[in-house]
Amino acid sequence: MIKVSWGTFFLIYLFGYLFILFTLWLFSHLRQKKRGHSLPQNRVKVCEFCLSPYQIPKHETLSRCPVCKSMN
Ligand SMILES: [Zn+2]
Repeated sequence: MIKVSWGTFFLIYLFGYLFILFTLWLFSHLRQKKRGHSLPQNRVKVCEFCLSPYQIPKHETLSRCPVCKSMN
């Protein structure tokens, strides 16, 4: 049996743990990069009252202007 001190054991454990975390992060990062950046499903709407542009979700028909707080 290989004799390992507690300090060495702790270092091996720590680096193994960090290596697993790094590998998982790398795979998730590569998978996300492969999938590409998905554009948010928003569209720009111009307020009828103050004419300020703002974003709303694509399927939302009724929205409140963030500037003048009126319903459009
Ligand atoms: Zn407005």
